[in-house]
Amino acid sequence: MFINSHIASGYLAGTFSKQESKWVWLLIFSTILPDIDGIWSSTVAGHHSILHTPIFWIVICSICAIIGKIQKRNDIEKGSRIILAGAMLHLITDWLTARTVGIQWLYPFSETNYWIYPIEPEKGDIPIWDMVIPPYINFYFENKILVYSEILVNFAALGWAGKTYLIKK
Ligand SMILES: [Zn+2]
Repeated sequence: MFINSHIASGYLAGTFSKQESKWVWLLIFSTILPDIDGIWSSTVAGHHSILHTPIFWIVICSICAIIGKIQKRNDIEKGSRIILAGAMLHLITDWLTARTVGIQWLYPFSETNYWIYPIEPEKGDIPIWDMVIPPYINFYFENKILVYSEILVNFAALGWAGKTYLIKK
């Protein structure tokens, strides 16, 4: 899934779960956190590091939530839960839209990659920034169900944000 679609899905999830705007912002931010591994990986297919495994976020966020609970800091506890939700939303949407690399749901117990539509890892053997140009973009757009659902998520988020903005004015 492209980064704008992650942002859009985080916005929609935050808005429809009726969170205060600071938590919606944190949720949006957390939906892009796993893709930080794109900075240090050389290829699209290779960019799924430990940041793309659920165990990483469960461990980190649970530790932070426990610290928040001990220190009676509700904001830290809630923030940890929001970050976990955002990262999980990222993993679920990456899993649904996997084209070249899946999600290792059971890592570290198993290194099996999971995906919905068959993936073609060799097509992801390109630098990250080449994702937005042919031939990768053409390959990505071959799966029409994924393309239309990604476009729909973006339009829904933009439409909802626009509607909210107009109501406030
Ligand atoms: Zn990702």
